[in-house]
Amino acid sequence: MLPLLRRAWVAAVTSSSSSSSCSSRPGSRRCSLGACCSYRLRDALHPLWQSPLTIPGGTRQSPINIQWRDSVYDPFLKPLKISYDPTTCLHIWNNGYSFLVEFDDSADRSIIVGGPLENQYRLKQFHFHWGAVNDWGSEHTVDCKFYPAELHLVHWNAVEYPSFEEAVMEGNGLAVIGVFLKLGARHEGLQTLVDALPAVRHKDTVIEFDVFDPSCLLPSCPDYWTYAGSLTTPPLTESVTWIIKKKPIEVDEDQLEAFRTLLFSSHGEEERRMVDNFRPLQPLMDRTVRSSFRPQLSP
Ligand SMILES: [Zn+2]
Repeated sequence: MLPLLRRAWVAAVTSSSSSSSCSSRPGSRRCSLGACCSYRLRDALHPLWQSPLTIPGGTRQSPINIQWRDSVYDPFLKPLKISYDPTTCLHIWNNGYSFLVEFDDSADRSIIVGGPLENQYRLKQFHFHWGAVNDWGSEHTVDCKFYPAELHLVHWNAVEYPSFEEAVMEGNGLAVIGVFLKLGARHEGLQTLVDALPAVRHKDTVIEFDVFDPSCLLPSCPDYWTYAGSLTTPPLTESVTWIIKKKPIEVDEDQLEAFRTLLFSSHGEEERRMVDNFRPLQPLMDRTVRSSFRPQLSP
């Protein structure tokens, strides 16, 4: 995480913990889809999202529920072209909220183009969000259905902006590919990553992790939804073109459990398991979710 983002992040976490005496019931006001959310899920809300101070008043916040029948097929949406150079992979970092796999973005070596994007975007990092149990964990939902985890591949618009920090502040600055993870067969591509996780169990640990092609984590189906949204972690800026893949990838129980062995806490602190690191759903407001595929009934 770069300095600007790190400062915003620390400020948000600090204000969250310092206002823990807030009288509102933790998590009781942020879910815009009450019918979707059990009391168990509300109790799973990460402390970061229990404070009203971390709730901006924007009109294009993320994540959202994607209502399959309400999404609009756009025949002009192009296929998304992905070209990642495995040697741009640098390291894995436990930032105390997720683990980030970071890439060298000093040149156009790992890029995406096409889809809803007018420019080419460079891969900066990818990370996951997951639950304490398999009933929830994804940030986006489809027809109110949660998946146990969600992958985010974060890219920035290096054509229009000189740096990632500047792109973060602009409406067309970032493009994030979201991929749902569902329970099923073991994912061989993910396993390389899972094997490295014990070395970054604690917050602020970093290990080298070179030569990894994250395209192995993408489903082969080209279909996606797209909408204008925001970052789902501080500074929550409304700078993201979201590209949410329709088909999930399969991972097995052991792989999800490996995510849950990570810790929010640093060496020497009381151990807090890294689970439920997702932001609650945000209102769709005046937005349309477009699909690259023809409308159909959800399976
Ligand atoms: Zn994310």
